[in-house]
Amino acid sequence: MKKLVLTDVRKIEIVECPVPEPGPGQAVVRIRYAGICGSDLHVFDGLNANAKMPLVMGHEACGELYSMNDERTDIKVGDKVCAHTIKPCNSCEPCAVGRENLCRQVKIMGTNFDGVFTQYMLVDANRLIKFSDDVDMRLAALVEPLTVGVHDVRRSGLRAGDDVFIAGAGPIGLIIGMMCRLSGAAHVVMGEMNPVRIQMAQSLGFTVANTTDPAAFKAVCDEATDGEGFDKSFEITSVQPGFDMCLAALKKSGVMIQVGMPPKGTVMGVDIDKIIYSECELRGVRHHTMSSMQAAAKIINSGRMNDQLEKLISAVYPMDRYEEALEKARTDKTMLRVLMDFS
Ligand SMILES: [Zn+2]
Ligand SMILES: [Zn+2]
Repeated sequence: MKKLVLTDVRKIEIVECPVPEPGPGQAVVRIRYAGICGSDLHVFDGLNANAKMPLVMGHEACGELYSMNDERTDIKVGDKVCAHTIKPCNSCEPCAVGRENLCRQVKIMGTNFDGVFTQYMLVDANRLIKFSDDVDMRLAALVEPLTVGVHDVRRSGLRAGDDVFIAGAGPIGLIIGMMCRLSGAAHVVMGEMNPVRIQMAQSLGFTVANTTDPAAFKAVCDEATDGEGFDKSFEITSVQPGFDMCLAALKKSGVMIQVGMPPKGTVMGVDIDKIIYSECELRGVRHHTMSSMQAAAKIINSGRMNDQLEKLISAVYPMDRYEEALEKARTDKTMLRVLMDFS
């Protein structure tokens, strides 16, 4: 088998090695497709201090169960599967209350331990999630970014009929928007300034408010909300103007979700009057839980998002052409998800 190993900053080697043997409680997944996420490029560029090289990057993938050394009977060899991307300790207080994403000892796939850019991957059997036999594996490879959408929309407490504003129409903004629509949002408005992304969002059926034109921006938001403001807003840009826009966009008692991750230590200014006088809430999101990934897998199994998911796959490269794939993902802003084929 072959795996892609990050040996130094921006240096990947294809390494030949034996297929791993699962120890007790472990399983081996034969990876089929894996997506390249912005956070992988961050690790690749040496910008994530938690990532220790040599490292197999990647956390967005699907594959088939190849072997398992565990009591689980609900999954068998050959099944299409994915693995949840964090390893919780299962004993701290956040774990005990079901918020494993906040685990005090949390370890993250592709950062703290080897990820999915490999042909065969060793995983904990209890983190495996099964897909239906008939799912399209390319679409199933989007399960992790879709899980981000599920988790973030659940955190927002979105209800049917809510109006939603999303600052930043990149891949995650679009996925959150799709998940809001699926969850019954009345209106979803994307705030975006980049012409390529504006066009992309519109082609996916979203209303876009161009943030470079204040009067037009206000007109679009007012039309969607009858001038009342939005029930929920999602901030993906990680910068102060996006933050201000998301808070200002809320109606009374609205909820804002901070999705984007500015560099650690960043301090944002907050319009405290808005929080006080409008009883608005600001909520953070951190990774996601296995239950959110189980939900995302069910949505993929249902097939009801297939048309939209299909549009998120911008290119597929064989694993041997990883350099081109990473370069494409980094430089071409029309790429929503670049997949690598590890079969
Ligand atoms: Zn990701
Ligand atoms: Zn824990």
